[in-house]
Amino acid sequence: MYTLKYKTRDFSPGKSRDARGGARKFSRPNFKSRGVARPKIRKPKRGNYIDEKLFINKAVAKEKEVYVSTHTFADFGFPEPLLKNLVIKNYVNPSPIQDQTIALGLSGKDVIGIANTGTGKTAAFLLPIINTLLNDKKASAMVLAPTRELALQIENEFRSFTNGMRLFSVSCVGGSPINRQIRELNMGVHIVIGTPGRVKDLIDRGNIKPSMFGLVVLDEADRMLDMGFVNDMRYILGKMPKERQGFFFSATFSPEIKTLCTDFLTNPVTVSVKTRDTAASIDQNVVRAQSKEQKIEALHDILIRPEVKKVLIFREMKRHTDDLAKELTKRGFRVLALHGDMRNRERERAVKALATGEIQAVIATDVAARGIDIPDITHVINYDIPQDYDTYIHRIGRTGRGDKVGTALTFI
Ligand code: AMP
Repeated sequence: MYTLKYKTRDFSPGKSRDARGGARKFSRPNFKSRGVARPKIRKPKRGNYIDEKLFINKAVAKEKEVYVSTHTFADFGFPEPLLKNLVIKNYVNPSPIQDQTIALGLSGKDVIGIANTGTGKTAAFLLPIINTLLNDKKASAMVLAPTRELALQIENEFRSFTNGMRLFSVSCVGGSPINRQIRELNMGVHIVIGTPGRVKDLIDRGNIKPSMFGLVVLDEADRMLDMGFVNDMRYILGKMPKERQGFFFSATFSPEIKTLCTDFLTNPVTVSVKTRDTAASIDQNVVRAQSKEQKIEALHDILIRPEVKKVLIFREMKRHTDDLAKELTKRGFRVLALHGDMRNRERERAVKALATGEIQAVIATDVAARGIDIPDITHVINYDIPQDYDTYIHRIGRTGRGDKVGTALTFI
C-alpha cells in the first residue's frame, strides 16, 4: 500500500461505500470471456460512486512456471540459416504456443491461436511462414495487426529471423508515407505487414494484389474488431485466394471471432495457451487525489521512489499526454509522450527509450500503447481512470510479466 499525503479510506472486505455513505455489497469480478458484460468504470464526477475495489489487489508472488516443450527448434526441420538466427536471438526452447502451433503451421493447417502478447505468438506464426517462403519462391504472406506499433514490431521480428536470407518485407501502416510503401511494394516483397485501413487503401489503389497471398495472419484479431476494423478485415480476406493458409490469433474467443474463423478458415485447429490471470501478479492500488495540483504532486512523489524505475502512465487524451510530459520534464523527470498524432519515428523513439532505460516513463494513450512489448515495466499508472474494466486489465497487463511482480496504481 502506498502511503500518500492524502487521506485514504479503509474498506472492510466484501463491502464498499457509495457516495451517500451507504454500504454496498461487492464481489470481485471474474470476467473470463468477452461474451460476459464487463462493468463500466464510472468517471469520477463529484458524487459518483466509483467501484474502487476493482483497482485494489495484493499481488501473489509467482513461482516460476517451467514449461517442458515437446519439441526443440531443431525438430521442426527448419533450414540452417533460420536455425542459426534462432540461436543468435537466444531462442532455445519453444514457448507453449510455439510448441503447439509451429508443427501445425508447417503441415499447412489453418490455426486459431488463443494467446496474449508476451506468449511468443509472433514466432508461432512467423516461423512456419518463413519456412514456406524459403521453400516456395512464389509464396507471399500478409499479416494484419491492429496498430502501427505492433505491425512494426512484427516486421522487426521478421527481419531478425530472416537476416541474410534475402526475404523482403514491407510494413503498410497509417501515419507513414504511403509513397514509400508503394515503392517497396513495387520492388517486390515476400511479406506485407500492415494495419487493415492502410492495407485496404493500398488494395484499392491497386498496389497490393490480395489474390497473390496464400498465407494470411490476423494478429490480435479481437483488438482489430474492437477498433472497428471488421469491415476492412472482411474486405481484405474476401479478396484473397480460397486456397490459402490462415493463422488467426486473438487473446479472447468471442462470438465475433468465432464467426470470422468460421467464415475465413478451413477446418482450423485451435491452440489455446492458458496464461495465469495477469492481475494475480500485480500489486494494485489506488491513489486518492482530487485536484489537478494534488494529482501532479502525488505522481511526483511516486516517481521519485527508487523502485519506480520503468513506468507506463496512461492518459485518456492525446493532448493530455503531452501536457503531462511537459510538466514532468519541467520537474526534472526523464519522460516522453506516446500518442497517435506523433510521427512513427517519434513513437518508436519513445518506446525504445523506455525499453533501454534512457527515460523513466512514457505517458501514453490506450491506442498508442496497444500491443507494444516493453520488458520489465515496474509500474503502470492510470493517471486517468480507464473507461472500462477490460481496458484496465489490458493496461496493467504491461507489468508483472514473466516471473516478475508489478505494481499498478490508479488515480481516483
Ligand atoms: P511475443 O508474444 O511474440 O510478442 O513475444 C514476446 C517476447 O518473447 C519477444 O521479445 C520475443 O522475442 C520473445 N520470445 C518469444 N519466443 C521466444 C523463445 N522461444 N525464446 C526466447 N524468447 C522468445
